[in-house]
Amino acid sequence: MTSIQFHPVEETLNLYAAGQLDPAMSIMVSAHLEYCTECRQRVHAIEQKMAAQLEDTQPAAMSNDLDSMLQMIMQQSAETVIEPSQPRLQEEISLGDKRFPLPRALQAHPQHIGPWGRLPGKIQRARVDAVSDSKMNFIYMDQDSALPEHTHQGQEITLVLAGTFIDDAGSYVPGDFIIQNTENKHTPRTAANQDCLCLTLLDAPLHFTSGLASLLNPFSQLFFK
Ligand SMILES: [Zn+2]
Repeated sequence: MTSIQFHPVEETLNLYAAGQLDPAMSIMVSAHLEYCTECRQRVHAIEQKMAAQLEDTQPAAMSNDLDSMLQMIMQQSAETVIEPSQPRLQEEISLGDKRFPLPRALQAHPQHIGPWGRLPGKIQRARVDAVSDSKMNFIYMDQDSALPEHTHQGQEITLVLAGTFIDDAGSYVPGDFIIQNTENKHTPRTAANQDCLCLTLLDAPLHFTSGLASLLNPFSQLFFK
């Protein structure tokens, strides 16, 4: 089994740990972390460093205040046991008779997902409403399917959730976090006898480049809904 080769850059992990990513990007990173021990450890280390820096900059008096405040809060919550209303989690996303695990960040928000719609080729898409200017979609590629060659007018992030897909540059397995931008041109297709589910984040429509596929450009907005 091939392992994850593509990760978010360090800067993205820093912003994630600081809670400064926009919600859509934060969902993408958190979904990658579910697959990637290496990045989980990196985020944990960043969080510890941030906590240590915070302690260093806090005057002693203030941290005493903080201690007594925390104590007060803990006493209060011991007295009044508040039952948090548990949102019903949806742990899977289904497509026909197929089921795939849903990233945890989306499990509490199934109402923001879907429905599935068909795109040219054997591609299906379910849109995710995330609070962001970018567009998030589940993209399902059935066995023996390919997306026409395209470039990107902005940034495209693809996170593989299940199966494998390949393009001119390599093959990608669950957890791979692939960043494509205006310099990249590729033709994603499924590996032999495999289907593939990805979560993608696009900040501009795709641009189809090769021969007949360029006729798809009027439809490229379809990938950007
Ligand atoms: Zn990683």
